[in-house]
Amino acid sequence: MRVWFAGVGEACDPAEINTSLAVEAGGTRLLLDCGFTAAAAYLRTVPQPERLDAVVLSHFHGDHFFGLPALLLQFEVNGRTAPLTIVGPEGLRRIVPAAMELAFGSLLGDLPFPLRLVEASAGMHLEEGSLALTFAAPEHSAPCLSVRVDTASGALFYSGDGRPTPATLELARGAHIVVHESFERSGTTPGHGSIASSLAFARAAGASHFAAVHLRRELRRDQAGIIRAELAAATGLHAWLPASGEAWPPE
Ligand SMILES: [Zn+2]
Ligand SMILES: [Zn+2]
Repeated sequence: MRVWFAGVGEACDPAEINTSLAVEAGGTRLLLDCGFTAAAAYLRTVPQPERLDAVVLSHFHGDHFFGLPALLLQFEVNGRTAPLTIVGPEGLRRIVPAAMELAFGSLLGDLPFPLRLVEASAGMHLEEGSLALTFAAPEHSAPCLSVRVDTASGALFYSGDGRPTPATLELARGAHIVVHESFERSGTTPGHGSIASSLAFARAAGASHFAAVHLRRELRRDQAGIIRAELAAATGLHAWLPASGEAWPPE
């Protein structure tokens, strides 16, 4: 399994790209979330960006899906012919065409490649190439789906936005790597995770790796060093604050 963090930021961080990660294993690649600043970052920093099989949207906040029209436009101008699947919560089959219509008029109907829109829900199981996807709902201010990606070489859990729930912990159990939204540093905030709660979540899931993403902008600006040190000192798993553009495992 190979992971590229195209972005690791939250919605309002002027210094960071929105959280978005590409996951590839067994010849299949997914992009998990594609916010307004993430499409260009994915195209710029991830090798062979056209080798994308599916985009999985955790929810319909702009920092997680408004990059989709830009990504599809880029594929259109590059003459892509390979099919692409877009997976996301209920409403996707209405919301994605509406976003495309607003951004680029009739582009959706003119794409030179087949686009499949798939609405997912908690508990659903989907196959995408060599990867298996399952979903559970975290607690967030908009309906959101955490996703588990099972590969032949281990599983990745990505929270999307939101505070962990018993269902997302069950989904993450046994995953090799947990990538969790950590908006705050400690404590519990309605609708969001924290560094402390996400670390506890990754431990409880039995993960060997924990990557904290979507850190609140003031914390990233003022406390990133302290948080990095705290995560580096965590025992029982490898925990870290990835940077935009970073690949995992490191080469
Ligand atoms: Zn967000
Ligand atoms: Zn959100």
